[in-house]
Formats: sequence, C-alpha cells, structure tokens
Amino acid sequence: MERPEIGEVVYTEEQIRSKVGDLARRITEDYREGAEGSPLLLIGILKGAFIFLADLARLIDVPLEFDFMAISSYGSATKTSGVVRILKDLDKDITGRHVLLVEDIIDTGLTLNYLLRSLTARGPASLEICALLNKQVANKVELPVKYEGFSIPDVFVVGYGLDCAESYRNLPYIASVKK
Ligand code: 5GP
Repeated sequence: MERPEIGEVVYTEEQIRSKVGDLARRITEDYREGAEGSPLLLIGILKGAFIFLADLARLIDVPLEFDFMAISSYGSATKTSGVVRILKDLDKDITGRHVLLVEDIIDTGLTLNYLLRSLTARGPASLEICALLNKQVANKVELPVKYEGFSIPDVFVVGYGLDCAESYRNLPYIASVKK
C-alpha cells in the first residue's frame, strides 16, 4: 500500500511487543497483592490508546475491568491547544477503585494533567498512569507517570493507535511523519 506521508520507523513491532510485555509484568507484580478487592480498572483514553490497551491488557495477569474516556485536545492538526474537552465520560463511578489510566502518548502533559485532576476529584483508592510514549519537550507539565514505555524525541509519530488526521492507526509499528 502507498504510504507517502510515512517516514522512518521509530519502534518496530518487535520492540513494541517487548516493551508492552515489560510494562504488563510490572503492572501484574504491583497489583497482584490487591487482587482480592475489586478488580483493577483500566481506563483507556480514546481513540489513540485502543491498540496499546488491548495488547497490554491481554498480558496483565490480574483481574481487570475496563472503562473508556474520549477526549479531544488536538483536532486534525499536530499542535496541542491546551484545551481539553471530554467527548465521552466514564460509564461507572470510580470511587474507592484502583484505577490505571492508559494513554498512548504524552506530549505537553496538558491532557493527562487535566484528566488526573478530574479523576482524582472522584475519590479513587489509587490512580496511576501508564503511557506507551513520553515525549521529551520543553515546557512540559510534570506528571507522575508510573509506567512509561519509551521516552521519545519531539517528533510527530503515527501507528499502533496513533493517527495523522485519523489515518495510520492500524500500522503495527510506530513511525515518524514526513513534513
Ligand atoms: P498533550 O496534552 O500531552 O500535549 O498531548 C497528548 C495528546 O496529543 C495525545 O493523547 C495524542 O492524542 C496527541 N499527540 C501528541 N503527540 C502526538 C504524536 O506525536 N502523534 C500523534 N498521532 N498524536 C500525538
């Protein structure tokens, strides 16, 4: 298939698989103790996290439940606006629950910062962040990212759930986009 906009492969399928496995092992270790309470709740941030969440969840060996939030902070451009809109909120109450927020990529941190504050106010028993990619950018909002996959340079990437104007989410690898 013609993919004129796709540049270099940044992470191969194999590198992603190995990293997702590492993250899942750490999460399994950390939440094994608490497994007798209500199951760990994975919250996927749509749409970008859907593939990462699906792969990660199948490798986590503790009971899980799922919920999703859809937010908009980007439109189809490649610049963050700082304005976060909740397009779809959680279905269930998270009060007293152990929650793990699963995100595809952190850029400025504005989106997750907003979500963290919104979710913390709902009184979860615990709330941690798992992000596959964390960009090294200036003026970043510092976030407590407990589970980080790759720390990447400030380039716009697509694939493995990440889009460019809604395309390329199904690429099995992560690649840069040509200018
Ligand atoms: P932040 O609020 O941290 O600046 O931006 C987070 C959101 O911006 C991500 O959830 C993602 O939707 C989008 N984003 C940031 N960097 C990239 C990128 O390199 N590629 C794609 N496809 N989306 C990005």
